Amino acid sequence: MLKTKVQKALNDQMNFEIYSAYIYAAMSAYAAEKNFPGFANWLRIQAGEELLIHAAKFEKFIIDRGGHVDFDKIDKPKAGWDSLLAVFENAYRHECKVSANINALYDVAVAEDDKAAQQFLAWFINEQVEEEKNTDQIVQQLKIIAENPQGLFMLDQQLSARTFVPDPTMSAAG
Ligand code: MG
Repeated sequence: MLKTKVQKALNDQMNFEIYSAYIYAAMSAYAAEKNFPGFANWLRIQAGEELLIHAAKFEKFIIDRGGHVDFDKIDKPKAGWDSLLAVFENAYRHECKVSANINALYDVAVAEDDKAAQQFLAWFINEQVEEEKNTDQIVQQLKIIAENPQGLFMLDQQLSARTFVPDPTMSAAG
């Protein structure tokens, strides 16, 4: 059985993952409008992962524990960046915030002596290492490219190769 405090913290993070999806969807639209379909693809898949894997994992865990899923109002995402570099700097900062949230959530699970929640959150702690690395890597690549159009088009081509990989534990059957 989920304790009230843990359930509230899990729901807050589920909603924050949906907010993350919304932010990445806005970033994807920005890249598409600027005629960078590869960047738009990468960001759209990121949005999909936030909603269909990250948020869905929290939802499933809450239900599996006999808790109640509480979808909240989602804030309007920021829109209008100056450049793709600004987009990815924003994405990296956002992922650092997500990591801090997950760490704070883990502290709640420890304080409430919820070992199942601690085990569940270990996946997210590892995932955030990847999320920070991936967004920062693109920031650093964009800095190297600077205003070189050829480099920008090559990176766009590279990012067009990303595909959505469903999480095998997130089957529709639950
Ligand atoms: Mg996430």
